[in-house]
Amino acid sequence: MLTLAPLLAALAAAWPTPAPPAPAAHTAQAPAPESGRPSPARPKPTGRGPAAVPRPAITRRFIPLTAQRRRDTAAYAKRHYGRATTTVEPHAIVVHYTVNDSVDATWNTFAPNVADPELRERPGTCAQFVVARNGRIVQLTPVTFLCRHTVGLNWAAIGIEHVGRSDAEVLGNAAQLRASIRLTRWLRCRYGIAVRDVIGHAESLSSRFHRERVAALRRQTHGDFQRSAMRRYRALVRDAGC
Ligand SMILES: [Zn+2]
Repeated sequence: MLTLAPLLAALAAAWPTPAPPAPAAHTAQAPAPESGRPSPARPKPTGRGPAAVPRPAITRRFIPLTAQRRRDTAAYAKRHYGRATTTVEPHAIVVHYTVNDSVDATWNTFAPNVADPELRERPGTCAQFVVARNGRIVQLTPVTFLCRHTVGLNWAAIGIEHVGRSDAEVLGNAAQLRASIRLTRWLRCRYGIAVRDVIGHAESLSSRFHRERVAALRRQTHGDFQRSAMRRYRALVRDAGC
C-alpha cells in the first residue's frame, strides 16, 4: 500500500511545536485507564483513512540491535525465506503470551543475541511489542525490524507478546486486552492488514503467508493463542474497525 509517512511528516512539520518539547512524544496519548470500565469514546472517524486511527500510548524500550544481531537476522532471513533482510513486510500480526510474569523478564529473554534453546540458531528471539498485565504497551524494536517470534512468518508478521501464562488469562484481563486491541487496531489499520491475518501463534501453519525453506521446520508451531481464543480476539479487532 501507499505509505503515509511523507504526508504525516509534512503534517507534523506544519503543526505548531509545543515548547518545551514533551520528553516522550511517542506517549502523547493518555495511558489507558486501569479499571475494567469501557474505554472513553473514540474520536469520530474523519474519513481520512488510516491516519485517523489513534496510536495507543507506547513506551519504547528497545533491545540492543547490534551490528552482529542485524547480520544474524539477515542471514536467518536468507536461510528461512530466501532473502537477506532485516525488514518485515507487514502482512500479518501474530499474538503470543510470554509464559513469564513481567515485561522485564520478557526484555531479558529477547535482549541477548544468543541461540535459542529450542531451535538453536541466531539471532536471539524477539517480538516487536509486549503488552504488560496492567495494559502498558512496550515496544522492543522498530515496528518492521524482523524478529524471530513465529517460524514461517517472521518475514511478514509483527509479533505482539502478552505477559501471561494462558490465552484465558490474557482474554480475561480487561486492561491488557483493551491495550492489545488498540495496538493491533493501530498496526492493522496503518499497514492495511486484514482481520483474518491477525492470528494466534498456534494458527501459524494455516496462515496464507506461511513460508519456510528449512524442511524440518515446516510443521513447527507453538500452542499459544489457539483458534478458539482468536475467534474472540478477531471479533474485537473487527468491531474496533479502522
Ligand atoms: Zn508464541
